[in-house]
Amino acid sequence: MNIGIVGGGMMGLALAYRLSQQGHKVTVFESNQQLGGLTTYHDYGSFIWDRFYHVILPSDTHLIKFIKDIGLADKLRWHRTLTGCYIDQKLYSISNTLEFLRFPPLTIIGKLRLAITLLYGSRINNWRRLEKIPVEDWLLKLSGRNTYEKLWKPLLLAKLGDNYQRVSAVFIWSYIKRLFSARDSSLHKEQLGYVAGGYKTVFDRLEELIRLAGGDIHTEAKVEYIAPHQHGGIWVEYNGKKERFDKVIFTGPVNVLQSVVARDMVKISQTSGTVEYLGVICMALITRKALVPYYIVNLADQHLPFTGVLGMSNLVSLQETAGMHITYFPKYVHSDDPILKQPDDELQKLFFQGLRLMFPKLTADDIVAAHINRATKMQPLQVLNYSNLVPKVVTENNDFFVLNTSQFVNDTLNNNTVVKHVDEFVKNIRE
Ligand SMILES: Cc1cc2nc3c(=O)[nH]c(=O)nc-3n(C[C@H](O)[C@H](O)[C@H](O)COP(=O)(O)OP(=O)(O)OC[C@H]3O[C@@H](n4cnc5c(N)ncnc54)[C@H](O)[C@@H]3O)c2cc1C
Repeated sequence: MNIGIVGGGMMGLALAYRLSQQGHKVTVFESNQQLGGLTTYHDYGSFIWDRFYHVILPSDTHLIKFIKDIGLADKLRWHRTLTGCYIDQKLYSISNTLEFLRFPPLTIIGKLRLAITLLYGSRINNWRRLEKIPVEDWLLKLSGRNTYEKLWKPLLLAKLGDNYQRVSAVFIWSYIKRLFSARDSSLHKEQLGYVAGGYKTVFDRLEELIRLAGGDIHTEAKVEYIAPHQHGGIWVEYNGKKERFDKVIFTGPVNVLQSVVARDMVKISQTSGTVEYLGVICMALITRKALVPYYIVNLADQHLPFTGVLGMSNLVSLQETAGMHITYFPKYVHSDDPILKQPDDELQKLFFQGLRLMFPKLTADDIVAAHINRATKMQPLQVLNYSNLVPKVVTENNDFFVLNTSQFVNDTLNNNTVVKHVDEFVKNIRE
């Protein structure tokens, strides 16, 4: 079959690869210059690495299998990393049980309650009842005020910015579930992973395999119209050209779907409200020395303009980054926040003020470069009763399918979930 796939992010390319392996002729349309969507890479001058920080967990079994399937098993790297916490202008390591038991900001009772929260959360299966409970209330009830303020709140701020107050307990539950779900038994659980060369290696390999199987990939190809073809199948219009396919799968966001699809091809149910999105501004700082010894530092400091610190070079070998250290500083905001439209130099100035507060010894000589990247609508905000807000997309044409991350109602946004959904989708249509 001749299959068109709209979107060249992880979802579109994983689909294209799996379908091409089943003997279908696939064509991918990606509006950007390079493949990868939110998982894409960035040229940092002396090296190329992911635009946003990406890590593979030992529990990402679907993603790990996929990476092995595309022949990159030997490129998977695992490394033990440390976790930090920045509280009252002090950095603490909470990387092992002993450090955690010693962690001064938490009382013994608080630590016990945290362990109970994690154990209890990982065993819950009925997530729908959690949709009605604000995440703050749920965590306060289970972990207590002290543990909430010192540990959970910084984590929520790191992941959601100030929007955490409106989010339901499903958010943290899916996070706990991802951490505690079945792990690849060949790996040590404390380790984190990446692919040598970053996600560029994955996308280059996917492109190679898709083309080897006879597929096509068009970049800078913004799909503008999708409609039924009069002689059967579907046609796709892009850059003033038209191509006909037996089947088309759309992997972009729902608002784009609504603007490109012909009337009567999909039914998008009206819901009681609209889905809100989180955006992210992420500064990647390239330095000559390490800023922190941790992969992740959760921040409990409202004076800082960023919501987390990710010392990528504590995970990734320095050979990957030309001997430089790369640290990401994300700031998660509501997608309507005007800060997302501020020019790069203003954002850099703001983030540098935070750098001076947190790292007073850092000098201009230590800094090689700073890159500001942003994504306006990176993930839906899982507010209370979120699953009722997600518009149900039903395709009214047997040759047209929609598979995208906005349909994930009880999962965190990550590539393991993307691959899991792709594999289920491919299995279902084959059956
Ligand atoms: C800051 C940040 C950190 C992250 N960290 C991790 C992590 O550590 N681990 C992890 O597993 N995941 C992580 N993720 C999530 C991961 O990046 C996503 O799961 C993944 O990118 C989703 O892929 P997708 O293909 O569904 O969507 P997208 O990446 O959004 O791809 C959709 C593609 O469709 C294209 N498109 C849209 N409209 C059209 C059109 N009309 N015509 C043609 N093309 C179109 C877009 O240009 C885009 O390339 C992170 C994301 C961010 C932003």
